[in-house]
Parts: sequence; structure tokens; C-alpha cells
Amino acid sequence: MSHVFVLDTNRKPLDPLHPGRARILLHTGQAAVFKRLPFTIILNRVADQEPQPLRCKIDPGSRTTGLAVVNDTTGQVVFAAEVQHRGLLIKARLADRRAVRRNRRSRQLRHRAPRFHNRRRPAGWLPPSLASRAANVLTWITRLRNVAPLAAISLELVKFDTQRLQNAEISGVEYQQGTLVGYEVREYLLEKWGRQCAYCGRQNVPLEIEHIVPKSRGGSDRVSNLTVACHLCNQSKGNRTAVEFGYPAIQQQTRPPLGDAAAMNVTRGLLYRRLGASGLPVETGSGGLTKFNRVQRELPKAHWLDAVCVGVSTPAVLQTRGVRVLGITALGHGNRQMCRTDKYGFPRLHRTRCNVHFGFRTGDLVRATVPTGKHQGTHSGRVAVRASGRFRVGTVDGIAYRYLQRLWRADGYAYQYL
Ligand SMILES: [Zn+2]
Repeated sequence: MSHVFVLDTNRKPLDPLHPGRARILLHTGQAAVFKRLPFTIILNRVADQEPQPLRCKIDPGSRTTGLAVVNDTTGQVVFAAEVQHRGLLIKARLADRRAVRRNRRSRQLRHRAPRFHNRRRPAGWLPPSLASRAANVLTWITRLRNVAPLAAISLELVKFDTQRLQNAEISGVEYQQGTLVGYEVREYLLEKWGRQCAYCGRQNVPLEIEHIVPKSRGGSDRVSNLTVACHLCNQSKGNRTAVEFGYPAIQQQTRPPLGDAAAMNVTRGLLYRRLGASGLPVETGSGGLTKFNRVQRELPKAHWLDAVCVGVSTPAVLQTRGVRVLGITALGHGNRQMCRTDKYGFPRLHRTRCNVHFGFRTGDLVRATVPTGKHQGTHSGRVAVRASGRFRVGTVDGIAYRYLQRLWRADGYAYQYL
């Protein structure tokens, strides 16, 4: 069961409650709704006892980050969410803008002059797409700290333990022969080859680790010589090399790019430093350990369940039944482009400096009740505002502002229960 966050009248976070208990408090007037997302109520009195400490657990990813709040003593998952990042979108938008500028310069239209002497980057600078991912996570940790008695953080620090991949001896024999053996390399290979058979491309079948150049032919156990294959392909390839088996591309690919993994490792490093500065103790775990924990507890693959399983502190028994997972999509806060151009680079639209029209801002969640006319009825969704006062609500265009009621103020995210 997903719990309801509770604050006392001084906004001090208390033990999260079962929704039924929260409903009684609301109906009897002992509490009021403080926030809809995540659902939080505020009591009308001061708390008389200290809350149990909770742990916030994070599994950062390049597209999706899993978040979970877990009670370590009971194993109860109090809250779970998956944050969809907009890193790729940011990259595309920056490239777009750059293309328009360059086009206008080369065609000698009105343009911003190139700048040369502003290329020094501050220490700790990250590209905007990576910085946005880290900022999304930090924002949500802050929001959760405001409503839950968080006392510790668990962060998956490295998905790929590249040191261990390159030099297995460095970590000592004991670790390699323990229960974790095989997990790091296997997880890395599954990511690298897209979780499908490298030869026939089949998905959702058991995949085996396979030597591109077989060991019997002098191939090594180096990771660059490994791939994943289904049982049939592995058997029929036998002791042939990938070239002899008819897949020269796979053999050429023995040193693939690690750019995405490296970028994620950078983001995780920044997260680790920033979370450390937050004052809460930060526990770290590897991706292999997360998967080991998840498999041991027989949980399916999901970003939020990965978050629940981060770190050695993970309780032996987890209560995950009935948890409602909040889907959070980062949408940004609009753009500051004043002049939109057509595809030829000519000015097409000019925006006003004003974002708020008739009390509404693009991105607010609203409900529109239209009494008469073409759009008669009730519509709800995100609003796109215009100076004319006729807005778009969800997919319905041209609704007058006076029929609107705001449900949620735009905060750069869209929400949906998964
Ligand atoms: Zn296959």
C-alpha cells in the first residue's frame, strides 16, 4: 500500500500513514490536504512523538531514475516513483538553436554575432543535458525531505565497475568468488548488447555469455571479447569465430564506445557529492549488487524496484504489494526564445515577456467546465496559455480562461500513476 505523507502543524515530517487512517483524520477535521503530489496531509496539532527514520533510495539512469522511500526496520516501501529525464530533448533543442543561428549567419540575415571569449567553464561544469538529470534527482530528494522523515540516502554509484572489468585482480579473490560472482560482467554485457542475442537478435530468451573468439582458439576472457547469445546461436557457432560464423561486424566491434556509461558515471559522481553535502549519510552500491538484491528477493525488473534494492542496507524482506508508482516526467520550465523563426530563418512569431495570462501559466493542471458551445462539457489537463485569453486545455483548443479552475501549479513536471 502506498502511504500518505504526514506533517504536523509546524510542517515537521511524521510517520507516513495508511490511506485509510489519513482519510479518517481528514474526515474528522484533524488534518487538511497539504499537497496532492506526493499526497501529503497536515495535522492541526504539534506532534508528540519522534517519527521512525526512513531511507531514500536512488537508482539514477540516463533516461529514467528510480526513487523509493523505504523503512529499513519493517521493509515497507512507503513511496516509489520513476523520474523521466529530458536530457536527450535538451541536447536536441540546443542543436536546433545552434543550427538556426549558423544558418542566419551564413546567409547574412539579422543574427547574433558569434562569441569567442566566453569559453571558460567553471569548475564542476557539466553539459546541460547531464546537469538537468542531476538537478531532477536533487529536486525530488529535497521535495521528499520536506514531507518524509528521511535519515539516510542510498545511491547506486556505478552501473559499470570499469576498474573491476579491466583488472579483476584488483578487488581480491574473495569478492570474485562470493555470491556476487558473474553479476557485474553479465549486467554490463546485457546493457552493451541491448539485451538481445548478438547474432539472431532474439529478445526475451535466456542469454548466455559467449566468446567472440572462442577460448579454444586463443580468445581471452577480456570483456571486449564477450557477447551475449541465445542458446541456439551459442551451440551452432561452436568453436568458430564471429567472422567464420558470418558476423564480421561483431568481431570488429570488440572495442565499443562506453560514452553513455561514462556520462552516467559522471552524473552519479555529481549526485554523490551534492547528496553528501546535504548532511544525510549516503550509502553507495554498485549496479551488480542492486541486481543481486533484486534477484534474491524475486522482484521483477523495474526502475523503482531497482531503487528499492540499492545498497547493502536493503531489508531481507520487502513489502512492495500495492505500492502505487508515481510517474514523473521532467518537462522543463518553457523556453526564453522571444522570436520564433520559420524554417528559412525568418522571424515568424514574437512572444511577450509575460508568462502569466489571466492568472494561468503554461503547464498548470486545470479543469475546465464549459456550459455551452462547441466545447461544452468538462475538460482537464495541462493548459497552454495565450494573451488572447483563449487557452488550450489538454488537446481541446480555444477555451476561455473564465471557465478554468487550477488544480496544480506548473512546477516543471508532469505526473501520472504507473
Ligand atoms: Zn540467437
